[in-house]
Amino acid sequence: EYIIQNNKLLPKKDAMIHFDDRGYYFGDGIYEVVKVYEGQPFAMDLHLNRLVQSSSKLDIKLPYSKEQIQEYITTLIEKNSVQTGLVYFQVTRGVEPRNHLYSRESTPVFTAFTQPAHNTEDIQKNGIDVWLTDDIRWLRCDIKTINLLGNVMVKREAADNNCQEAILHRNGTITEGSSSNLFLIKDKVLYTHPATNLILNGITRQLVIELAQKHNYSVVEEAFPVEVLEHADEAFISSSSVEITPIKAVYGQLTTTFPIGPVTQDLQTKFKELLPKA
Ligand code: PMP
Repeated sequence: EYIIQNNKLLPKKDAMIHFDDRGYYFGDGIYEVVKVYEGQPFAMDLHLNRLVQSSSKLDIKLPYSKEQIQEYITTLIEKNSVQTGLVYFQVTRGVEPRNHLYSRESTPVFTAFTQPAHNTEDIQKNGIDVWLTDDIRWLRCDIKTINLLGNVMVKREAADNNCQEAILHRNGTITEGSSSNLFLIKDKVLYTHPATNLILNGITRQLVIELAQKHNYSVVEEAFPVEVLEHADEAFISSSSVEITPIKAVYGQLTTTFPIGPVTQDLQTKFKELLPKA
C-alpha cells in the first residue's frame, strides 16, 4: 500500500511525519475526501476548488497546483489499484516550533492515502437512524479543516445511542450532520441550510441541488428550526462517501420517523447516473 508525502510516492510503512508538524499540535490543516468509482476520482474539480478555498481562508499556501495534485492523486489510485474506494488528501501548514502564532515561512506538508469504501448499499436502501444534538462546533464550519473535535465528539455520542450519524442544531436551528449535509422534503420541495459559515458546503450537497433543480424539484436553501423535522415527508443526508442516504428515524432531543420516500429514491437513482461507469 502506497501513500503520497509531498511529491513522493512511498510505501506507507516508510512514511514519517515531523514531530513539529502544526497539523499534529493544532490540527492546523485542511483536507478533502473524494470517492473513487471505476478507478476514477468523482467530482475532483469541485473538491480541488474547495481545497483552494479552504487554503485561502486559513492563509495556508498550497504547495502544488490543482493540476499537480490531480496528477499525484491519479498516480496513487493507479498504484494502489483502487477500483471503488476513497482517496483522502490533506495539507498542513507545515513544521515549526510549537507556537500559536504561525509564521508565513513554513513549507506546507501534503499527504494522501487511499482506503476501501464502506459498503453503502444497505444504508442507501434501508436508511439510517440519526441522533439530534447540539452543534458544539466553531463558527467557521465552511472551512474543511482537519481540526474536527466537535464533529468527532457528536459522532461518538450518536454511535453510543445506536445512531449512524449526528444531526446538529445551533440554538434550535438545524445546520448539518457531523460528516454530511441534511435535506428535508415536504410536498416535493427540498429544504437545506444555506451555505453560510455554519455548514460545510458539501460537494454532494451542491450536486444534489443542481440535480434536483434540473428535474424540476424546488430547492429552498433556508435555515429551519428542529420542530420542522416532525412535519417533513422525507429526509436524507448527503456526502461523498454515503452519496444520498435516507434517514429512517431521528432520536435524541426529538423523536420522529420517516419513510424511505419517492423523492429520495428518485434523486438516488438520478445521482447514480452521474457516476463514472465501467
Ligand atoms: N458536512 C460535513 C461537516 C462534512 O464533514 C462532510 C463530509 N466531509 C459533508 C458535510 C459532506 O461533504 P461532501 O459532500 O463534500 O463529502
